[in-house]
Amino acid sequence: MTAPQVSRPQARVLRTEIPGPRSRELHQRRATAVAAGVSSVLPIYVAEASGGVLHDVDGNSLIDLGSGIAVTNVGNSAPEVVDPVRRQVAEFTHTCFMVTPYENYLQVCEELAALTPGSHDKRSALFNSGAEAVENAVKIARRATGRQAIVVFDHAYHGRTNLTMALTAKSVPYKHGFGPFAPEIYRVPMSYPARDRRSGAEAARDAVDRIEKQLGADSVAAVLIEPIQGEGGFIEPARGFLPAIADWCRDNGVLFVADEIQTGFCRTGAWFACEHEDVVPDLITTAKGIAGGLPLAAVTGRAELMDAMPPGSLGGTYGGNPVACAAALGSIRAMRDRDLAAAARAIGDLAFPRLRALAEETGVIFDVRGRGAMIGIEFTKPGTAEPDPELTARIARACHAQGVVILTCGTYGNVIRLLPPLVISHPLLDEGLAVLESAVREHAR
Ligand SMILES: *Cc1c(COP(=O)(O)O)cnc(C)c1O
Repeated sequence: MTAPQVSRPQARVLRTEIPGPRSRELHQRRATAVAAGVSSVLPIYVAEASGGVLHDVDGNSLIDLGSGIAVTNVGNSAPEVVDPVRRQVAEFTHTCFMVTPYENYLQVCEELAALTPGSHDKRSALFNSGAEAVENAVKIARRATGRQAIVVFDHAYHGRTNLTMALTAKSVPYKHGFGPFAPEIYRVPMSYPARDRRSGAEAARDAVDRIEKQLGADSVAAVLIEPIQGEGGFIEPARGFLPAIADWCRDNGVLFVADEIQTGFCRTGAWFACEHEDVVPDLITTAKGIAGGLPLAAVTGRAELMDAMPPGSLGGTYGGNPVACAAALGSIRAMRDRDLAAAARAIGDLAFPRLRALAEETGVIFDVRGRGAMIGIEFTKPGTAEPDPELTARIARACHAQGVVILTCGTYGNVIRLLPPLVISHPLLDEGLAVLESAVREHAR
């Protein structure tokens, strides 16, 4: 692995309190212009970012353990992304692929065919956001199978548009008051080994039993699942769960759709999380990590399913914008050249033992889980399974105050998730973890 090239020093530097005076001023101004429904985890206003560090308008440099929610896997403003984007933006910015096409859209689809699980013939369609990709996967699954029901899981997160709100599990803040929701969405239990104590096979039998008894397999178009759940709490199903569900799908003419929007692009130590159990999805949705921060998303699937959609039935004005495609090709090249899947595994190897030791020591950590550089820490009241979202929020705030960007998640808001850029240097990661460890120790008392 070559060392990441970054333009600004990779160090945490605190010059003011966090957020500083300039950020606080902007934050006040924001309230008079930006809709309140759009919120920010940590209102430091960013001036520049590079690698694993965010530089704010007050001259502070913060360690980024969130990657803008699993997006800047290759690091912020990675040179492999910046250079092709600069070139592309000077050549042409937009034609609309549906009007007059261009080559880098094809190249992204070729890369997706090569990188996603399975050696079958594949086709892709490109979109702007994860939610849009998920919506299109549902469209394709319904039309290709001639069936309507879509099965999703407890704790699932698939987006905030109308259809994806229906697919998402959690009411507040994502759904409450925003109905009516799209029909023909059915929810079944997820394998959650720390809490349900079931094997993957048992949990899959339960899910399948509900599908068969409540819907009947022949009305189901697709089962849609995050191989490791993201917003819902970084829940990794017990081994055997995903393959059992995928097998059942195959036996029943149901499409297995993997939402790898958060888990994809080397995040979990493989190109895609389905690979850890040799699961080959019929359709896969990708976004977030695909293009180093530019908006791009995709549905990639079996050629016969994708090509069953009539001309004009898929697409959008901006989908597969040439600048975003240039960024994706650069980002994929960086992941390949720097072996960022290995980098993700190394991050996990560094972090997991420390976090497990911290769990032993403090008694407020119910579970440490995830894979590679997708790491969840679930907090509960000492010695119980009762979620402790207040403690979780206090720890996150303490990390923020110390210049470490940390995100929370979970149906109960009691999970801290670590999603560092995969290029983060180990000393910087080490420092970020040390800040987290002292915050946990201090607030666990
Ligand atoms: C973020 C996310 C989405 C939605 O993507 P957007 O780009 O925010 O629309 C869908 N599914 C998963 C698993 C996600 O993590």
